[in-house]
Amino acid sequence: MHWQNWSGLESAEPRTVIRPTSVDEVVAAVAAARRGGTTVKMVGTGHSFTGIAAPQDAMLLPHLLSGIVAVDREAMTVTALAGTPLKVLNAELERLGLSLHNMGDIAEQTLAGAVSTGTHGTGGVAAGLSAQLTGLQLVTGTGEVVDADARHHPDVFETARVGLGALGILTSLTFAVEPLFVLEAHEQPMTWDQALGSFDELVAQSHHCDMYWFPHTDRLLTKQNTRLDLDPSDAEPLSRVRHWVDDDLLSNTVFGALTAAGNRVPGVVPRLNQVAARALSERTYSDVAHRIFTSTRRVVFREMEYAVPREAGLDALREVRRLVDASDWRISFPIEIRVAPADDIPLSTAYGRDSFYLAFHTHHRSDLAQHTAYLSAMEAVMRDHDGRPHWGKLHSRTAADLAPAYPRFADFLALRERLDPERLFSNDYLRRVLGS
Ligand SMILES: Cc1cc2nc3c(=O)[nH]c(=O)nc-3n(C[C@H](O)[C@H](O)[C@H](O)COP(=O)(O)OP(=O)(O)OC[C@H]3O[C@@H](n4cnc5c(N)ncnc54)[C@H](O)[C@@H]3O)c2cc1C
Repeated sequence: MHWQNWSGLESAEPRTVIRPTSVDEVVAAVAAARRGGTTVKMVGTGHSFTGIAAPQDAMLLPHLLSGIVAVDREAMTVTALAGTPLKVLNAELERLGLSLHNMGDIAEQTLAGAVSTGTHGTGGVAAGLSAQLTGLQLVTGTGEVVDADARHHPDVFETARVGLGALGILTSLTFAVEPLFVLEAHEQPMTWDQALGSFDELVAQSHHCDMYWFPHTDRLLTKQNTRLDLDPSDAEPLSRVRHWVDDDLLSNTVFGALTAAGNRVPGVVPRLNQVAARALSERTYSDVAHRIFTSTRRVVFREMEYAVPREAGLDALREVRRLVDASDWRISFPIEIRVAPADDIPLSTAYGRDSFYLAFHTHHRSDLAQHTAYLSAMEAVMRDHDGRPHWGKLHSRTAADLAPAYPRFADFLALRERLDPERLFSNDYLRRVLGS
């Protein structure tokens, strides 16, 4: 069986494929790997840009471990099987009048895949999906089924919320939920000076703030999402036509054609970015939260994202612009800027510090030499600003230089030693970032 990730950069040929339908079947797969001295890995939907999910011997597919299994309206928690796609959870929660607090830009990923790499959105009291967990169930490398939360196996719970797939196979996840709420999105184009000058104010004014800088231009698109005290039936989403034109036609079809044209004739990219940035217009609309947070991405790209301390963020961004302006790269994708409050998850990019995220993209067919030069230069800036790379996005860091970036790196390694002493869950990526 051939496995390939979404961006097409990573592939693997696992020897066996298992579609577990129960925790017992996951335990059996782990036991078989132990007996055979082989590896076993549950994959998600392959939306990581790195080889973090690449299976070597046995690949467990997530599809039959899907759906909500418990709703506790008193505790306001919902438990779902680990392979549930985020979009399925969102739809089910909406039907129940519930919602997650925050999420990233898309909803294709599985719950376990998303939390394992520290998937995050922007703003809120918790930006990462992992920081919204209240419990998890894990099958360890010694075949134990561990139900972990703040009271039971608290060390496992604390650490396995961002476990990189290295600590065990997650079988279910429990999230804190809220009553379904409406967000109003306000998007507006701004000049560089306007956006950077009012950045702190824009973040403070809204619950979730996101920005996109168009390289080779002086313009950004800012998106502020604010909670409205409104019944979901009174929300004012974009009309179907406007939604189709703006979010499907322009953001996917036209953008896809323009980036493909930019790959063929790189010299036109700055002009195309100028046109795209000028075409942006102000718009305000509202909808239930998950439809505001997430959208469809059909243009395939490669991505690197780093978190730097919040207070270093604008300096890092200015340095990024200085390098882009001074280079001969032709970057057709906007650079995304987000923020997150600190959390307490040992390998979370926001561990112990309020964070500022910068995400760099290139088209999946863009010239590899330029892609590498661009991302390497950006990574050097991120390192200079004490950056931590997203575990599911491209980076070149190794265990030796990740350890100093994470005060609790050694605790993670010690727990891994206990939960997966035989490295049943390992692969090349984990050996690089964890050192064995
Ligand atoms: C278009 C696009 C948009 C994105 N937007 C965002 C964003 O807004 N914010 C953000 O932070 N990230 C974003 N990402 C990154 C993405 O959220 C992460 O890479 C995420 O891990 C992908 O989830 P997946 O289900 O595809 O998991 P995979 O990539 O398949 O796997 C990720 C890891 O999870 C492990 N895993 C999967 N299932 C289990 C299990 N049951 N038990 C233990 N480990 C398991 C895998 O082994 C692997 O280590 C985006 C990616 C793409 C392609």
